Amino acid sequence: MTPLQPARGTHDLIGEEFRRHRHVVDASRRIAATYGFVEWATPVFEDTRVFSRSLGDTSDVVTKEMYTFADRGGESVTLRPENTAGICRALVSNGLTQTLPQKVFYAGPMFRYERPQKGRYRQFHQIGAELIGAAEPLADAEVIALGWHILRALGFDTDDVVLELNTLGDRESRDAYRAALVDHFAAHRDALSEDSVARLERNPLRILDSKEARDAPAVAAAPTIGAHLTEAARAFYDGVKAHLAHFGVPFRENPRIVRGLDYYSHTAFEFVTTALGAQGTVMAGGRYDGLVEEMGGPPTPAVGWAAGVERLAMLLGAAPASVRPVAVLPVSEAAEADAIRLTQQLRQHDVPAEMAYRGNLRRRMERANRIGARFAVFVPAEAAGIVQLKDLDSGAQHDLPRDEVLARMRHEYRREA
Ligand code: ATP
Ligand code: MG
Repeated sequence: MTPLQPARGTHDLIGEEFRRHRHVVDASRRIAATYGFVEWATPVFEDTRVFSRSLGDTSDVVTKEMYTFADRGGESVTLRPENTAGICRALVSNGLTQTLPQKVFYAGPMFRYERPQKGRYRQFHQIGAELIGAAEPLADAEVIALGWHILRALGFDTDDVVLELNTLGDRESRDAYRAALVDHFAAHRDALSEDSVARLERNPLRILDSKEARDAPAVAAAPTIGAHLTEAARAFYDGVKAHLAHFGVPFRENPRIVRGLDYYSHTAFEFVTTALGAQGTVMAGGRYDGLVEEMGGPPTPAVGWAAGVERLAMLLGAAPASVRPVAVLPVSEAAEADAIRLTQQLRQHDVPAEMAYRGNLRRRMERANRIGARFAVFVPAEAAGIVQLKDLDSGAQHDLPRDEVLARMRHEYRREA
């Protein structure tokens, strides 16, 4: 029998890889809370219409990448390719459209049927933030500032990651721009990739996002939206830029930034790195004022971003260290019951504690070293509550009352909590 492997495009998170992953999620969750973002968890699969309606029927995600299937009852369900649609669906389903603004953070797995490559998987993970119910440019800037703050906390600096900013304008600006793009790309039709020719009819803006080398010259020569912005759209964009300066977030304008999904307007942005080859976007987002209405709610402005956890985890410098527990070692078999009791007391004091399941003292000590224990506590059979605490890094060793060991260990591990 061929050995079982993870399904193509999926991967196991174990050991250092898991710790990197969790560090990204924990840090972003903590910082999101300081900006008043509250975590939601929506289902991993939804009624297919949640995505087909919201992502638009021309996006790559909907046309090529969705994991859609009929369940046993014949309902069409889809593994979520992203979480913004699910959050907006949840806002409406839970009657929260009158309780705005809502500032939502999420973290979890997403599913896209893509060709697996470095930094591109079929099951991957995203963290994300959505600010729903604020139409002001300040909201866009705050959401971006949160993203930047998270990237900074993960150790990225302006040398590593650049915020690229653009506006897609309002409806009127976009319609005018769209017409200009159709004119331009129609004149280069023969040079375009097959996908881009299809986009020409349905969503010419998307051609700007093409990853095909063949499209590059026509994309480079394409007009930008600047000349087509209405006064209101320009004022909005200026507001976002001014507020980004107030938040202290550096950015670079890039008129080629469009979002892969159909529901965006005004602000579009990506945090980009050169360190991951073609998969250089680590965080991406924008304003999506039409989406809540698409889910059956009232017209509701919203802005947010999503970031790929795998890509961020790969870019982290040193991997976060694993927890180094206290190893409790009964000196003889007669001391085992007492050692179990001490192990439990340590755990009740929030101290990670381990006791090997078997073996003499030497074997148990080997095991303690193998799991990277930071301290060892030797428990003798009869010692009237006195045990021996050993610092396994320095080798220092003391006889101490059990209560003293508990107090010291509690203090020692408090930082980790
Ligand atoms: P790309 O242009 O790389 O395909 P995208 O525009 O499809 O990205 P978004 O839908 O904006 O990506 O998702 C936000 C972030 O999620 C991306 O910037 C990336 O970090 C991550 N991401 C998207 N697709 C994948 C994937 N298949 N595997 C790993 N991470 C991904
Ligand atoms: Mg994609």
